[in-house]
Amino acid sequence: MNLSFKKKNSLSGGRASGGKRKAERRVPGVGPAIPDGMWIKCNTCKAIIYKKEVTEYKLCPNCDAHFRMSPSERIRVTCDEGSFVELDAFLESENPMEYPEYEEIIQAAQKKAGIREAVVTGRAKIEGEDVVLAIMDSHYMMGSMGSVVGEKVTRAVEYATEHMLPVIIFTTSGGARMQEGIISLMQMAKTAEALGRHDEAGLLYITVLTDPTTGGVTASFAMLGDIILSEPRALIGFAGQRVIKGTIHQELPEGFQRAEFQLEHGFVDRIVHREKLKEELGKLLKLHKCVESEDLA
Ligand SMILES: [Zn+2]
Repeated sequence: MNLSFKKKNSLSGGRASGGKRKAERRVPGVGPAIPDGMWIKCNTCKAIIYKKEVTEYKLCPNCDAHFRMSPSERIRVTCDEGSFVELDAFLESENPMEYPEYEEIIQAAQKKAGIREAVVTGRAKIEGEDVVLAIMDSHYMMGSMGSVVGEKVTRAVEYATEHMLPVIIFTTSGGARMQEGIISLMQMAKTAEALGRHDEAGLLYITVLTDPTTGGVTASFAMLGDIILSEPRALIGFAGQRVIKGTIHQELPEGFQRAEFQLEHGFVDRIVHREKLKEELGKLLKLHKCVESEDLA
């Protein structure tokens, strides 16, 4: 997880003189020691938070900011217990453009995020309803979309079409993956085409936009949902604010590209608090249930 854990804050011990990390700081005669890594800093309100106060929903106890989640954390708070079955878990990126050191970058990303690629797909139940899920991970190269992300999303959508099931995609991405060049951009068309066939079959597709959803992912499957939900204050846009500002030479409005701004301007249908998301998705799945859905239980 990368929740802006402070590796060395005023309350932690930092490093011992020999270079070996101290497990805790002991100040003689000043009460109990404080173990390392027990505090995190909220990037929104800047408060230093005791880690144990952060629940499985990963919310700031001070300002309710929604911290970024890994796919496994997302599955835990969204799917019915034990219902998630992963699809295509072993797909891995190659280096189609022979980009320098791409293999090393992939290895570092895999180690950091603990998954093989920037999206996890699978089937599951939410409030008893069968669904196919794709959950992106910002901890893996900022959720960038290369050939494998596009392929996994496409296969998940095709699986849903074949089994007459709804699709929910949790998006978070910095956009197309530059190390795979044009092949990354092709994923936009590929995923959109698969979703088109899913739509023609009369099936439901819900997107849940999480912080941040930008670039080629916004420009393809993130914005194609029949219903587009978002988490509060998620950054949603195509180009970054600095690029837009530099292009149009104008000041951007307050809250530009945040979920609330996008709701007001019609890009988002509803903002849902993370603690209510499972219930909301369950309701939507029940309302739009396809009578021909296969029961995968
Ligand atoms: Zn906060």
